[in-house]
Amino acid sequence: MKNIWRVLSRGLRRRCPRCGEGPLFRRGIKAWERCSQCGLLYERNYGDTWMYTIITDRIPIFAGIVAWYFGFRAMNWVGATLFFVAMAVPLVLTIPHRQGLAIALDYLSRVYFPDPSDEIHGGTPVHRANADD
Ligand SMILES: [Zn+2]
Repeated sequence: MKNIWRVLSRGLRRRCPRCGEGPLFRRGIKAWERCSQCGLLYERNYGDTWMYTIITDRIPIFAGIVAWYFGFRAMNWVGATLFFVAMAVPLVLTIPHRQGLAIALDYLSRVYFPDPSDEIHGGTPVHRANADD
């Protein structure tokens, strides 16, 4: 359990979930393919982190739902605008952290639900032709 929290906090700090050293992103949320320190492949297949991205997107939205549930109501356009800004700004500012958390969650699923073809469990390392550089 302690290891799970350590892996998740590395993701939130935008660091490699395995070693905690290598950066996840080069610019904004454009992820490196591998950790520069330990060589971990961050995303085995394109879209592997998509489900976790969806889940982490719901965390800030959930805060707004809780505020609404406990009786927050905008009484005028100023209140409505402030509520929208209070929801939107954290949603945008935490994108890299939530994306890092998504990569960390995907890494945990790879550790706890091992696939023998995954290189972290002895499978063949993936080599990709990088067309986007
Ligand atoms: Zn690493």
